[in-house]
Amino acid sequence: MFVYMDYNATTPLREEVRLRMIEDLEVFANASSMHEAGRRARDGVEKARAQVAALIGARDPQSLIFTSGGSESNNTVFNTMYDLGRRPGGRKKIITTAIEHPCVMNAAKRLADEGFHVVFLGVDGQGRIGLEELERELDPSRSAGGATLLVSVMAANNEIGTVQDMKAIAASAKAAGALVHSDAVQAAGKVPIDVAAWGLDYLTLSCHKIYGPKGVGALYVRKGAPLEPLIRGGHQELGLRAGTYNNQGILGFGLAAELASRDLASFASRLLSLRERLKAGIAAAVPDVRFNGHPTKVLPNTLNVSFPGAEGEAILLSLDLEGIEVSTGSACASGSLEPSHVLMATGVGPELAHGSIRFSMGRGTTEAEVDYVLAQLPPIIKRLRRMSTVPSSACADA
Ligand SMILES: *Cc1c(COP(=O)(O)O)cnc(C)c1O
Repeated sequence: MFVYMDYNATTPLREEVRLRMIEDLEVFANASSMHEAGRRARDGVEKARAQVAALIGARDPQSLIFTSGGSESNNTVFNTMYDLGRRPGGRKKIITTAIEHPCVMNAAKRLADEGFHVVFLGVDGQGRIGLEELERELDPSRSAGGATLLVSVMAANNEIGTVQDMKAIAASAKAAGALVHSDAVQAAGKVPIDVAAWGLDYLTLSCHKIYGPKGVGALYVRKGAPLEPLIRGGHQELGLRAGTYNNQGILGFGLAAELASRDLASFASRLLSLRERLKAGIAAAVPDVRFNGHPTKVLPNTLNVSFPGAEGEAILLSLDLEGIEVSTGSACASGSLEPSHVLMATGVGPELAHGSIRFSMGRGTTEAEVDYVLAQLPPIIKRLRRMSTVPSSACADA
């Protein structure tokens, strides 16, 4: 049996999206050209913009710009902050979290290197930031760094699935006059997003996490919010992101977003029950495990588990031999020997962090697949624990 449980790393193309893109390969015209073929290509791009806007509750499709993906969207926001902060009298304090995706983390660290005051808010044991701590950091009379320029908090975490209360976070940030950004790459299509109701200035999306093609994403920019182009050139995207339109990718994104909106409720309830089946099965068949992340404020498809006394990479490779594909954390972190910064931030400690596996399920996941994992996993953990020298009591305080 072949079981893919790494949907948070990327998702396969939906059949409808694949067919739509193949059809669109015939349209080769430049969507910025003024002739008939160019206008037709452009119509496709604008339809996609409206479809993506609908997924996140953006009332004006023009508030979205297409990018090459989540990493570019996030970097565009931080690059804009760099420009704003360096202006005379510009605010130079940025508040983000200790559990962001590396593309936010590293963009924020670069600003710190450039003299910005960057705060990486800690999280509780379940991966949520504290509103009181955020408000203290937003108050210049109670914290260092002056007034805050930007608050950037991911809507949902890719490794442990914890979902933040973006509406409350944005309200606090707004009250302090700060701009607010959220990386919603993992939230999209799994939990409802409403940029207008949440009051965000910026929101990041990536297409390949919602069953569309790779190499395309979007950045929502509230009308009136500042934005500096990361890529300069032609006048595409209102001059905010130059480069010839990636029509096929964008059209695929539009359809993937529309289908994700349509299916969200049924997807979430189906995945949640698969998650419960996997969780209950692991709890029943494997002694001494720790489930990471928030028990309820969590992505319906994501289950992160620590197996004290077994090593994550060894578990991953053993499962791989049985045809089960999982991750030890984020795709970007695997291959490095560093323990997951996300798990470390939740306080699990390096030993447990090294013994953790992320199961991320998706549209293709079935009960039979979950049961196959539940049959294969327990003997693997038992064998690895017998071979291991790490004491399994590492979980005693969990
Ligand atoms: C995958 C991911 C990204 C990066 O998106 P790309 O389109 O692959 O650049 C950013 N943030 C989160 C939370 C992600 O899961």
